[in-house]
Amino acid sequence: MLSDVSIPRTRFRAQRIARFTESVIREMTRLAVRHQAINLAQGFPDFPAPASLKQAAHDAIDADINQYAITWGAKPFRDAIAAKYRRTYALELDPEREITVCCGATEGMVASLLAILDPGDEVVLFEPFYENYGPDTQLCGAQPRYVQLRAPDWSFDPDQLRRAFTPRTKAIILNSPNNPTGKVFTRDELSYIAGLCQEFDALAITDEIYEHILYDGAVHVPIATLPGMRERSILINSMSKTYSVTGWRVGWVLAPPDLTDSIRKVHDFLTVGAAAPLQQAGVYALGQSDDYYRHLAGEYQGRRDFLLQALQEAGFQCFIPRGAYYVMTDISGLGFASDEAFVQHLISKVGVAAVPGSSFYSQKGGGLQQVRFCFCKKYETLESAGHRLRKVNVTAP
Ligand code: GLN
Repeated sequence: MLSDVSIPRTRFRAQRIARFTESVIREMTRLAVRHQAINLAQGFPDFPAPASLKQAAHDAIDADINQYAITWGAKPFRDAIAAKYRRTYALELDPEREITVCCGATEGMVASLLAILDPGDEVVLFEPFYENYGPDTQLCGAQPRYVQLRAPDWSFDPDQLRRAFTPRTKAIILNSPNNPTGKVFTRDELSYIAGLCQEFDALAITDEIYEHILYDGAVHVPIATLPGMRERSILINSMSKTYSVTGWRVGWVLAPPDLTDSIRKVHDFLTVGAAAPLQQAGVYALGQSDDYYRHLAGEYQGRRDFLLQALQEAGFQCFIPRGAYYVMTDISGLGFASDEAFVQHLISKVGVAAVPGSSFYSQKGGGLQQVRFCFCKKYETLESAGHRLRKVNVTAP
């Protein structure tokens, strides 16, 4: 029996979530299931995780690594994280004082923001942005200040960025390689951002989960490696995308000791800790050689090119991604009034799910002719989607 909720209940809805809307990305997944559409909306692989990694998780469970790990992360996993950053970026981290293992990058971001932001603080965000960052900021009572990334190359206006920084700015959130645009911020762009962080005494909070998914020679530079930025950076990452285990929910936050101290406190009370056996499997994952990462990027480059061709043949204008596993498209050639009307049509009539571009924008009217597709899927999934997408024009109202 459903409880009676006909009496006014707003008294029980906290102000901090009053402006929350449902996650559009996850809503699209539900719609895809309902209409049996091919899901190119939510970014998760539909192919198996690496067999040896699954075996490492089995082994950890069999070895009875089944109780709480240390709240900020099992020691062998933190050591593996430190070793990987030393190897990849020559970044030296103290596993005892600068690493916090979290339940995915999502928790890493919330825990970090809750640890540093007070109500009234401001956070600079590039737009379009991954939809979590807005609500994350609101949970802290902080104010987002948006700066446009402009199609087709998703560059930003340095003056607009500078104007977004104020004495109340505590941080900028930076996601590179970027979801949803596929932009990879260049060293010059990062240096400019670093300069503003230093001038305004702000932190750079970076979501780097697509760090190894790069195309056409693009290079990922963690802003923490730039001069003067080590003590101003909170670097967030996870196993999800690099090792194709988005459901494991194992991520980490790298930050200087004083910030780590605050982040660990929030993390401890939020979740106690990430799954212990999966952290043990993470020791195996993070020990992979460069070949693994080269192969990963090569695989995704093939899938990117495959989807780009299918979309272009179907009449989409595509912004070619240099990283991550999404293609942002412009649908203005297809004759729909809005991205939402288009996606509704795409899911129910064409049988392919995608994400309406407006969900990546704060201002009304943003992304109204943009739609995001993901390509972290089996070739056969992409092929079937390609066949269906060819009907887009024919079925248009
Ligand atoms: N990062 C993925 C995406 O953008 C998954 C989002 C989610 O549901 N957490 O599609």
